[in-house]
Formats: sequence, structure tokens, C-alpha cells
Amino acid sequence: MQKIKIGSHVKMAGKEMFLGSVKEAESYGANVLMLYTGAPQNTVRKEIAALNVEAGWEYAKEAGIEEIVVHAPYIINLGNTVKPETFELAVTFLEKEIQRTAAMRSRILILHPGAHVGAGEEAGIAQIIKGLNLVLDKNEDDVYIALETMAGKGSELGRSFEEIKMIYDGVHKRDRLRVCFDTCHVHDAGYHLVEDYEGVLQQFEETIGISQIAAIHINDSMNPCGAHKDRHANIGKGHIGFDILRQIVHDDRFAQVPKILETPWICEEGSSEKTIPPYKEEIAALLEA
Ligand code: FE
Ligand code: FE
Ligand code: ZN
Repeated sequence: MQKIKIGSHVKMAGKEMFLGSVKEAESYGANVLMLYTGAPQNTVRKEIAALNVEAGWEYAKEAGIEEIVVHAPYIINLGNTVKPETFELAVTFLEKEIQRTAAMRSRILILHPGAHVGAGEEAGIAQIIKGLNLVLDKNEDDVYIALETMAGKGSELGRSFEEIKMIYDGVHKRDRLRVCFDTCHVHDAGYHLVEDYEGVLQQFEETIGISQIAAIHINDSMNPCGAHKDRHANIGKGHIGFDILRQIVHDDRFAQVPKILETPWICEEGSSEKTIPPYKEEIAALLEA
């Protein structure tokens, strides 16, 4: 039987950088991992040479980790038409982030499509398309941009399959696009994953095509379907529940797709500080037949 590709997001920091990320993933029993190339909430990045890519991959091969995905920082916003400097920063950052992703030997860069910040859906989507074209028209790296399905918090775009399809339709090099399907976000966006998993996939198939799903974020949700809140819960502790998440992890249609947990760290007994990663236990539970 083929091994299920599963892991979590991991840190990349300190002296070891990527090597540390790989060791962290190994400690969870993961065979894939996701990382941010620096802090997710800012655009400060080290030089590629400082990421310790070579040593990390050497270790990864021994540890049975064959694939990594990169997540772009969530503050870059290609959808911003209100502040030109925000859009320009997003474009220049994304150009470099694709190069970093390729240098780290990942083929998948996950991107939150963007937010319209009050300008409206149409303007926001047009701006995202413009940004993606600016970046992709002159880039030849072997990297896909995987647009993440969003919860629809604030003015976030990509909160429906149709919005993601609209972005596809405007991008010249649409063969460079893929989708990252986030279970918490899809549920929060109002799709009835729990009651109608097959129906939701059918809808995805008809709008974009499930072959476009290149990564899956496996998260439970603290809120009911349609809440547009985007607060991840631990596996089995939220409104999606263990059974459907397990079903997705084991779905043969996604055998080639890395599944990444982004569930919250947990507090030690009697403490309010989140110091314990849940991933080892959650991965083991999800893999159980
Ligand atoms: Fe994300
Ligand atoms: Fe996600
Ligand atoms: Zn989220």
C-alpha cells in the first residue's frame, strides 16, 4: 500500500534553519512538511545560503521525508487596490518567494489569494490576477502557486470555489496555478463538508477540478459551518470532527497530495501557554485504519 503523505507546518529558525524543520517533522512521524521561509507575519527573509538547505535534505532523505511545501507569508496582499505600495510589495516579495521555494526544492508555494480591503470583490480579484500575471509572465521556475481556499474573514477573497476559478480564468499561465484546500476554511466559508463531503468535492470538480488540489490543510474548526471566522481547532475537537478529516486523509483521490496539519499547539496542564505541539498524536490518530 502506498504511504499517506502527511505532516504539519514546522518552524524554520535558529542556526539549523531547514535542518531544524526536518528534525521537527521527523519527531512528529511526518513524511512531508510545510514551512514559512521566515516569520509568517512579516517579509523579512534570510539569504537562501543561510537556510541550510543541503544539510536539511541530506537528513530528510534518511528520515523518509521526500517532499516539502512552502507557505507565503499571510500579510502580502495581491488584492489591494487601495494602497499601491502594499500591492507592489506583494508582487516583489512573491517573485523572490518563488525563487526561494525552488531553491528549497519545493514545487508548491501556497498563497492566500488576497483581500479587497473595501474596494469590492471584482476590483480585488482583478488586482490579484494582475499581480499573478506580473509575477508569472516572467518566471520560469518549476514551482506552482497553490491558491488557498479561504474562510471569508473580513474582505478575504478566494472564499468560494467560483472566486478561485475567476482568478484561474484571468491568469495567462494558468498551468502554474494549483489549489490548497483548507478544511477549516472551506467549512467556515459555508460548504457542508460534514454533511455532504462528496457533494462539496463534486462542486469543486465542476468549478475547478479536483486534480488541481496540490495540498490539503487538515484542520478542525472552532466555529460552525459558514461562520467566516478562520479559527483552527485540534483534530476531532471542533465542528468538523474526526471522522470526516480522517476520511479526507485516506481518500485515494488525494493519494499524491500532501496533507498538512495547522492545528493549534496545546497548553500544559494548569498553564495558559501553548507549549506542546499536537502533531505527533494527531498524525498517528488520523493514520489509524
Ligand atoms: Fe494558509
Ligand atoms: Fe491553511
Ligand atoms: Zn486558517
